[in-house]
Amino acid sequence: MAAYEFTDHEYDVVVVGAGGAGLRATLGMAEQGLKTACVTKVFPTRSHTVAAQGGIAASLANMGPDNWKWHMYDTVKGSDWLGDMDAQEYLVRHAPEAVYELEHYGVPFSRTEEGKIYQRPFGGHTTEYGEGPAVQRTCAAADRTGHAMLHTLYGQSLKHNAEFYIEYFAIDLLRGKDGAIQGILAWKLDDGTLHRFNAKMTVLATGGYGRAYFSCTSAHTCTGDGGGMVARQGLPLQDMEFVQFHPTGIYGAGMLITEGARGEGGYLTNSEGERYMERYAPTYKDLASRDVVSRCSTIEIREGRGVGPNKDHVFLHLDHLPPEALAERLPGISESAKIFAGVDVTKDPIPVLPTVHYNMGGIPTNYWGEVLNPTADDHDAIQPGLMAVGEAGCASVHGANRLGSNSLIDLVVFGRAAAIKAGEVIDRVSKNQEFDPASLEAAIERFDTMRHARGATPTADLRLKMQKAMQNDAAVFRTSESLKEGCENMDVIAGEMADLNVTDRSMIWNSDLMESLELANLMPNALTTIVSAEARTESRGAHAREDFPDRDDKNWRKHSLATVGDDWKVKLSYRDVHVEPLTPENEGGIEAKRLAPKKRVY
Ligand SMILES: Cc1cc2nc3c(=O)[nH]c(=O)nc-3n(C[C@H](O)[C@H](O)[C@H](O)COP(=O)(O)OP(=O)(O)OC[C@H]3O[C@@H](n4cnc5c(N)ncnc54)[C@H](O)[C@@H]3O)c2cc1C
Repeated sequence: MAAYEFTDHEYDVVVVGAGGAGLRATLGMAEQGLKTACVTKVFPTRSHTVAAQGGIAASLANMGPDNWKWHMYDTVKGSDWLGDMDAQEYLVRHAPEAVYELEHYGVPFSRTEEGKIYQRPFGGHTTEYGEGPAVQRTCAAADRTGHAMLHTLYGQSLKHNAEFYIEYFAIDLLRGKDGAIQGILAWKLDDGTLHRFNAKMTVLATGGYGRAYFSCTSAHTCTGDGGGMVARQGLPLQDMEFVQFHPTGIYGAGMLITEGARGEGGYLTNSEGERYMERYAPTYKDLASRDVVSRCSTIEIREGRGVGPNKDHVFLHLDHLPPEALAERLPGISESAKIFAGVDVTKDPIPVLPTVHYNMGGIPTNYWGEVLNPTADDHDAIQPGLMAVGEAGCASVHGANRLGSNSLIDLVVFGRAAAIKAGEVIDRVSKNQEFDPASLEAAIERFDTMRHARGATPTADLRLKMQKAMQNDAAVFRTSESLKEGCENMDVIAGEMADLNVTDRSMIWNSDLMESLELANLMPNALTTIVSAEARTESRGAHAREDFPDRDDKNWRKHSLATVGDDWKVKLSYRDVHVEPLTPENEGGIEAKRLAPKKRVY
């Protein structure tokens, strides 16, 4: 093994990731005077959050009646009763203040006539506990909400003297001598140096792993690096089988057309010109929850009512809406439709298809962002020194299915919560622990082995194989057969990691090596997804089994936990769902009867 030299850094907190979650956490840590580093593999404002279009959910009631209890009910129902209710209550109750905070930081929200923050309808967001009309709850900055948030949060973080390490790739977590997580090993991409960040608290905010699939709306950087790092520490990933397909990815290109398009009045049709959502979801129609709409589109296509020469997609209509409304509310997607589908949305429908969009599963945490390492006696035991927030984490508020616009709010509410908790638990006076030499050695050895990999399989080929296997076998609809085949395929594909061929051995701007490290991170995410899915013999939220079409609360209202061994073998265990909200009914909390599981219809 080559000898490596290190540059050393010491901090109270190191945050890995500079998307909405990482920046909100960084800002909150720095504001309290914690010495904070934010390490990111891409420039902060290029994180995937920048692509979020539709908006951020909070019951501000600017457009009509709304309150946190309705938002909570919708989130619980959206999660198909798999979310942790304490976390769900924390989210919806802190949502309004988090949005006002963004407003005060400078996010340029769209406005109503009276100058209030504009809110639009989004799928699964309702009034009167799912019995009233759709609510306008999603706060928007046109269709560029994530872009506006990210730029604002980056500016605010700089103002509070957070220190940024940009285009540094975090390779692995490092442990301290006491076994706690004690920071990370990172690789500076532009000069090839290696850096050890020693920190009292490490926060993973590395985003989702959409790139485990062939067709997804997420950026090429969404490779589940945090999940990979956690899996290599022998820690579990939670609820990985729940992968959200968005009903309206542009056919062929995968680019997203926001649900806000349906919020503004858009609707889907099949080859017969029928608005088929009216048949499946008579009340909320095109604004039913995402998993529901994705399944309906898939059924239409399967039953021969798809559009196009191959009858393999459906149409999204905006052509009936006033061109001025499209220009004001949906300028970005009008442009995307033009560029990626060659469609003028004021005249023609957009060809769309359900496309992988969001990972409900991730690194298990409590609602303070503290990472869980459950034991048989204590399902909520904490892994010292480690937090996770944003799409990388699983608090779990989204359970089996996330409602649109509930992710952006999750980023800022839990980013802030993690900062509050870190302020309480970090001992600012004591010295940082030293690294455990064995943990450092393991990280370096893995890096060096990858750098010198001399097998026969190019990284891009193996990645494509994985993406195709996941796309085919862990799709919108799943069966025992497809999942079993998927597990077998993925087992072989993971085995081929030993045969990788990295052609570039340099340390500077070595994209071949970086993509190989990313593939090594995608792999445990993909494996745990398919193995957890095969085991779960029920249908819930985004996990739709044709052979087990019903939800089975008796046996399956529990979180899946999956660990990955050195041989890539996945081991499963389970964790109880928190079914108690933070506030009991008699102390002003939501009525217990509203939270009881029932059939999920829209
Ligand atoms: C196209 C699209 C539109 C969406 N629209 C909406 C919407 O309207 N409303 C909504 O609520 N949700 C939306 N979502 C979902 C939401 O945007 C994401 O879930 C959310 O932005 C994820 O934010 P994050 O901070 O967790 O991660 P990201 O924004 O993905 O950021 C991840 C960060 O981690 C860093 N990183 C990763 N790995 C490493 C590593 N190894 N070393 C160093 N740094 C690393 C990256 O550099 C990056 O800074 C959308 C998602 C997509 C894909």
